[in-house]
Amino acid sequence: MKTNLYWIFLFLFTFINCKQESKHKDYAIAIHGGAGAILRKEMSAEKEKEYMSALNNALDIGEKILKEGGTAMKAVEQVIIFLEDNPLFNAGKGAVFTNKGEHELDASIMDGQTAQAGAVGGVRVIKNPIRLARLVMEKSPHVFLIARGAETFGIVNGLDTVSNDWFDTEFRKKTWIKALEAEAKDSLGKLGMKYVNADSKFGTVGCVALDLKGHLAAGTSSGGMTNKRWGRIGDAPIIGAGTYAEDGVAAVSCTGHGEYFIRNVVAYDLIARMKYGTATLAQASHEIIHEKLKSLGGDGGLIAVDHAGNIELCFNSIGMYRGWAKAGKREVKIFK
Ligand code: ASP
Repeated sequence: MKTNLYWIFLFLFTFINCKQESKHKDYAIAIHGGAGAILRKEMSAEKEKEYMSALNNALDIGEKILKEGGTAMKAVEQVIIFLEDNPLFNAGKGAVFTNKGEHELDASIMDGQTAQAGAVGGVRVIKNPIRLARLVMEKSPHVFLIARGAETFGIVNGLDTVSNDWFDTEFRKKTWIKALEAEAKDSLGKLGMKYVNADSKFGTVGCVALDLKGHLAAGTSSGGMTNKRWGRIGDAPIIGAGTYAEDGVAAVSCTGHGEYFIRNVVAYDLIARMKYGTATLAQASHEIIHEKLKSLGGDGGLIAVDHAGNIELCFNSIGMYRGWAKAGKREVKIFK
């Protein structure tokens, strides 16, 4: 009798365990290439095509990794590397110009499974800042490294470097020159931040992903805001402001006027509303972007995926370069 009971228990135990093992979730991924005053009438059909195809290619990269069982971290990092290398976006190649006519890049990445994170701010010669952020997470005892120190850490660890002007593009140069001209006409301009990002276009890139094992990750990479100075750092590399991921809750990446996202701890606010409150992903995103930030005058948006694979792409600006994919489904959009 005793032996029989033993076998019955063993069978039930193995059966339940196997069921849990095979209970794979579906993957989900979302990306953004910045929010802001993106007007259809200002964009040629050809440019629109270029953006749409870049966003689709980025999703292809992420989906392939996730479908094959790769981690959410890998998908996020590889998608962001692709977007950093694409001159259309304000991250890596194509980053905006600072007041001095240079580029200072910010990036961060967070692993929802381990709650580990890495971030870099104000780096000038590392080709892919998101790689450096991941390296900080994995190979240093720190979370956030800045400027020359961060670069030295990347170089010692073998990352590719480029000269700062490698990030130049004609389009971003024009925007910077316009900002300088406007500022020169206004004697008070230099005292405020009025001519920082004067065209209200944000081109930061971000990615959030849920992998087949149910783990979440988020990452963000940015050149910051046009004509920035004084070592200004935005929200993109600030864990809890521009980026956050927590298994069992959600993964978030933001874009917009960074100062508002920092003061409102936007990425973590979304997590907190879901974790400690009763908000769904959709409710939390809506309340933060359309109510809280909007009432303060903070322009921008966020992308997020929760533990169940629900996706939100939410913005209070005119447009946001964005896309998402799940098994057999995909959407890529720029305008509302
Ligand atoms: N959030 C970024 C910053 O303030 C800008 C962007 O989203 O493009 O630096």
